[in-house]
Amino acid sequence: MNTRRDFIRLAALSGAAALAHRQASAADAPVLDEKDPQAVALGYVADATRVNKAKYPNYAPGQACANCQFYQAKTAVPMAPCPLYGGKQVAAKGWCSAYAKKAA
Ligand code: SF4
Repeated sequence: MNTRRDFIRLAALSGAAALAHRQASAADAPVLDEKDPQAVALGYVADATRVNKAKYPNYAPGQACANCQFYQAKTAVPMAPCPLYGGKQVAAKGWCSAYAKKAA
């Protein structure tokens, strides 16, 4: 027998399942390879200390994916999807020339 309480419980469970699925999908996204053509074009490196500073003079120490507005994570995680690379995961310590400081 379905009661209103059963319905609410089911709705809450399916919402939690959908959220878990979304989080798993983000975690399952492929990791961006530095040799990916788009990564090469934008100078992506998984470790910002390896930025080619001669080629990208706009890079400033302290800039990293973790504090870029495109980094798709609300909490500190080592990797998260970046929409500029089709949702592939980039490193929190990474950087590319599309870097844009996240609003405080
Ligand atoms: Fe990292 Fe931002 Fe470049 Fe994405 S756009 S790879 S988050 S620096």
